[in-house]
Formats: sequence, structure tokens, C-alpha cells
Amino acid sequence: LVSAELEADDVLGGGVEIRPRTLAEYIGQRQVKESLSVFIQAARQRHEALDHVLFHGFPGLGKTTLAYIIANEMGAGIKVTSGPVIERAGDLAAILTSLQQGDILFIDEIHRLNHVVEEILYPAMEDYQLDLVIGQGPGARSVKMDLPRFTLVGATTRTGLLTPPLRDRFGVMLRLDYYTPEELATIVQRSARLFQIEITGEGALEIGRRSRGTPRIANRLLRRVRDFSDVGGHGCISAEVADRALDRLLVDRFGLDEMDRRILLTLIEKFQGGPIGLETLSTAVCEEKNTLEDVYEPFLIQSGFLMRTPRGRIATQSAYEHFNLPFRTGNAY
Ligand code: ADP
Repeated sequence: LVSAELEADDVLGGGVEIRPRTLAEYIGQRQVKESLSVFIQAARQRHEALDHVLFHGFPGLGKTTLAYIIANEMGAGIKVTSGPVIERAGDLAAILTSLQQGDILFIDEIHRLNHVVEEILYPAMEDYQLDLVIGQGPGARSVKMDLPRFTLVGATTRTGLLTPPLRDRFGVMLRLDYYTPEELATIVQRSARLFQIEITGEGALEIGRRSRGTPRIANRLLRRVRDFSDVGGHGCISAEVADRALDRLLVDRFGLDEMDRRILLTLIEKFQGGPIGLETLSTAVCEEKNTLEDVYEPFLIQSGFLMRTPRGRIATQSAYEHFNLPFRTGNAY
């Protein structure tokens, strides 16, 4: 439920799209919006393409949505791809040569571009030049081509994952944070309006509180709660309906789901609260290291249940208290 991976859930039944299309409709992330609005306005006044933008933040926080919004606000076209999909230099060359002046090229998971492809990107970003070597050995030829002035919008979970030369070529770097429960409640209410779901303010807030600070999860929980509400014959999602449905979905009052609980309980019950390394934890809970690092741990750390120390992961006193387990100092600290 909380794997914040992209699903076909941005366009919902009946083809209603829930992504906000303008900065004004985009909820929260005030600083990011303010900066973007200035950069977009300045670029438009100068009739120039926007500088390359890098968004970093955990999955589901709204990076792709912002890329679409930039294109919309700039009145530009957008091409969307992702790091792992572009396998060969020729793949990227094909995308770059298909761009029009001012277009946005959005590359999700840009840190996963391979090395050869990344090298093509440097001159493209800096000088709008395509520099391609065709063939191998003595017959190899270098081909140079001018590219239109485009804007690269990259998305990554952490800037540290990018190589320094790639990172340096972005003029704008913006970080997306977790949303507050109130902001998520506003997002839930907006989505509910679009899907013609009836929900009270308190119902929306209950979902907001239990969505791990992440809009994608809030929208997903809204749909699951609606299922319970429809089947139960409730006309409107109230706080009680939301609360009961979320309990049945095993999402607790802090927004922790089964995997979060498994991570914390494994740490506490099998490893005396830690510290243990990521590798061991990953094996013990049967979850990939990347997913643990990018999806589960950031939220557990932010909620104060988990700590990352140089010696490994540790369950905090709050984690013990969450499960009503006696905290034994000396284990973890
Ligand atoms: P990311 O690219 O960071 O993984 P997305 O841009 O795909 O995240 O956003 C996930 C979902 O959350 C989208 O369906 C979008 O509609 C919704 N969403 C994200 N941010 C906002 C926001 N600020 N306001 C309203 N909806 C949002």
C-alpha cells in the first residue's frame, strides 16, 4: 500500500486526472513554488528556456507533477522518460533530437542513467550540442549537432546519488519535503471533489494524518477508504468511517503499515533494538535495500522511531513505546 512507486493511479476511473496542472493548484511546498514561480516568470519575460531544474525528494511527493506544471506554465511541450529506460547513447540522442525549442525533457530517476548516456547529456545541457561517436575502432566518426534550447527537469530521491558533473549542470535544485497532515487533507479533499466522493473535513484529515506525509499515498488511501465506505453503505466518509477503514487496511494512527511495523519489531525483538546494518535488516525483513532506504526509513526516521548511526540502524525509545514494549537502555544506545 505504501510503496510510493508510480502506478497508473494518476488518472483514475473515467479518465479523471488528479494531477494539479498549475502552480496555484499545487498544494504545499511553498518555498519550491515561490522559487519556481519567479524562475518561470523571468524565463518567460526574456523569451528564454528555463534553466535546468533538479527536484529531489522521496517517491510520491510531487516531482513528476511539478515537471508537467512547468511545461504547462511555460506553454511548452514535455517529453517524459526515466534513467533506467535510456539504455544506449543512441536512445538519448533520439529523444534529444526530437525536442523543440523550449521543450521540457523530464528524466525521472536521473541518478540511474548509465555512464555512457550521462556523458552525452553533459554537452547537451551545457552547450545544446549533441556529440555522438558512431561506429567503433578506426572507422569511428564523431558527429556533432546543434540541439534546440530545451530544459532538462531531473528527479531523484537524493542529490548525493548524482555524479558531481551531472549535479553541477543543474542551475536550479529544489528539495521536496513531506507534507503536513493538513496539506494532505486539502489534497484529499481536492481529489475527492474530482472523483465526486463525499468526505468531511475530519475524514480528510484522518486520511491526511495516516498518509506518511506523501500525496500519492493520501490519494491511494482515499480510494481504498471509499471502497470500504461504499460497501458499508455510508454515503459520506466521516472521521469514524475513515478511521475504521484505515484500521482494517492495517494503517495505524501514525501512518505505519505492516512493513514499517515489521522493520521496527524485527529490530527490537530479533536484534535487541540494534544497531544493525542495512544489509542484515534487508535480509531479515525480506525487502530490498533501496526500498528500505528511500521509502520506509526516511519516514520512520522523521517520525522518531528509527535512527541511522555509523554503527547501523537503531530502534528508538518511541518505537518501544509504540508497541508497548519495555525499553531497555544500553541495548540501543
Ligand atoms: P513523484 O514524481 O515525486 O514520485 P508525483 O508527481 O507522481 O510524485 O505525485 C504523486 C501523486 O500525488 C500524483 O498523482 C499527484 O496528483 C499527487 N500530488 C503530488 N503532489 C501534489 C500536490 N502538491 N498537490 C496535489 N496533488 C499532488
